[in-house]
Amino acid sequence: MPSCKDSARQAHLTVHRIRPRRVLMSIFLLGILTACATPEPASVDGSGAPRPSAGEVTAGVAAAHPLAVEAGLDVLARGGTAADAAVAVQAMLGLVEPQSSGIGGGAFLLHYAADSGEITAFSGRETAPAGAEPDMFLDAEGEPLSWFEAIVGGRAVGVTGVMPMLGAAQQRFGALPWSALFDASIGAAEDGFEVPQRLARFAAGGRWPQAEVPDVIELFTNAEGETISAGEIWRNPAYGQTLRRMAERGPRTLLEPPISTRIIERASQPPLPGTLVQADFDAYAPVMSEAICGGFLDHRVCVPPPPSSGVALLQMLALLEHTDIDQRGPDDPVAWLQFAEASRLMYADRNQYVADPAFVDVPVAGLLDPAYVAERAELIGDRAGSLPEAGSPPGLAWAPDDRFRHTGTSHFVVVDAAGNVVTMTTSVESIFGTGRTVGGFFLNNQLTDFSFVPEVDGVPVANAVEPGKRPRSSMSPVLVFDVDDRLVAALGSPGGSAILAYNAKTIVGLLAWELSLQDAIDLPNLVTLGENFFGEASKFPEDVRTGLVELGIDVQPGRGEESGLHGVVFHADGRVEGAADPRREGIWRTLVDQEG
Ligand code: GLU
Repeated sequence: MPSCKDSARQAHLTVHRIRPRRVLMSIFLLGILTACATPEPASVDGSGAPRPSAGEVTAGVAAAHPLAVEAGLDVLARGGTAADAAVAVQAMLGLVEPQSSGIGGGAFLLHYAADSGEITAFSGRETAPAGAEPDMFLDAEGEPLSWFEAIVGGRAVGVTGVMPMLGAAQQRFGALPWSALFDASIGAAEDGFEVPQRLARFAAGGRWPQAEVPDVIELFTNAEGETISAGEIWRNPAYGQTLRRMAERGPRTLLEPPISTRIIERASQPPLPGTLVQADFDAYAPVMSEAICGGFLDHRVCVPPPPSSGVALLQMLALLEHTDIDQRGPDDPVAWLQFAEASRLMYADRNQYVADPAFVDVPVAGLLDPAYVAERAELIGDRAGSLPEAGSPPGLAWAPDDRFRHTGTSHFVVVDAAGNVVTMTTSVESIFGTGRTVGGFFLNNQLTDFSFVPEVDGVPVANAVEPGKRPRSSMSPVLVFDVDDRLVAALGSPGGSAILAYNAKTIVGLLAWELSLQDAIDLPNLVTLGENFFGEASKFPEDVRTGLVELGIDVQPGRGEESGLHGVVFHADGRVEGAADPRREGIWRTLVDQEG
């Protein structure tokens, strides 16, 4: 593991030593939901770091598969913007990494506009149909359905939002015609591509029920009647057809007949038939809003508003501001203890209070209230404490929804030559979503992100199912700015509930321990949720692991390994440094690498 001392110090990351942290912290918090969404332009007189101007930035893409990166670079090379390239990346991910994301799923995106400094949050989160019921994930006895039963059920399918959302982002920030963004993915779907290791592994089946769904078996069976294997050339012509239609007809193609009709038919079949109707598709609209921002070590961290759980990530960072984690490093067990305990406090509140703000009152300001955070931070002691309950931030009382979920998600970052940035987390929920296909893509099972139980001991759960509501998400794409409002990083990860811990680890690595982005991503994952300390136990040096046991934390392997962090750091000297998580198949590549 790299030590803090060994890692290259990054000029811009040292800026945070200049000003008193607490003062800045309160400025950031005062600015939440208002000024923080639209920073003042940075000065260009030498007193602050100027924003990069057009043509100065190294354009590049960090994503979970090289073909998706190439598809994005191809669009950038044709003069496309980050928003244009994001469409191409998503279309390709749906082909080469369908276990994680696809055009039938949902997503959250943050866009940074280099010329104005404007940050825009886009939500393409799925909605529940009008016919959804609060008890639709309960069995006849009123008990929650088993997880394996629910995730392949028709009623798990939400109205897909990712392409309408990308359509909105591309319409606002794109430069190329929509129809020009699918060439690479149509080509690969129709001409074939080498089956990636991870896709082959998931197609081969395993402990997930999607492997038994006839659509999955059919899609991944080759002409010889065998399940596709890594390295063989595979085609998905039905997907190519769908993309051709999407290129021609626009971002709402899946929400309109005939494709919507086929989605409705497939989702209405057993097991657990759903209630989707055309009116649900007609009613769908992606949401564009301001980001919410909080402070950490004299930086400003921005995330999408709920139903993304980004606010919880901000709370965890705020809790860590009350520790001396930045005086420690990754080789210090106490630093990981602080990280773990802040995680537990964060998840306790997240599980209770985060849901769709169009339906319930989410106490965003309360969760980040300095006095409340300070009080909660007192629970971070010298040893792992007992299981914390959620606190009572200013706001309403809800019962918790605390299941651990993971695996069907991807994250990518695009930087264009003008310095515009897209950071986007995208998901079909679990592996291959429901396992049901239409037109070569998978139908999501995102509605299983709702609480299965509508109330606990008579107290309503904020994240209960309601018609038209969006389920709570752990997806939280991140943008980080320095004191001069200069963009310093864009990042994010898949990983279900663990996304928040993966993102927090990377931000701590970057800002508190001043690691390079790659070293920060490579740090062992530690996911502390409820009573469990999951993580990459064998990646912690022996003395750190022993030290953690002495502090009451016995890191258990088995969960917490499936991060897929991708990100980019912008150095003050103009260098752009991207990184990809070695735990997946992704890469970072620049236009210069590509053209060279
Ligand atoms: N559906 C999950 C969410 O939105 C993400 C699942 C995953 O990361 O695998 O929180």
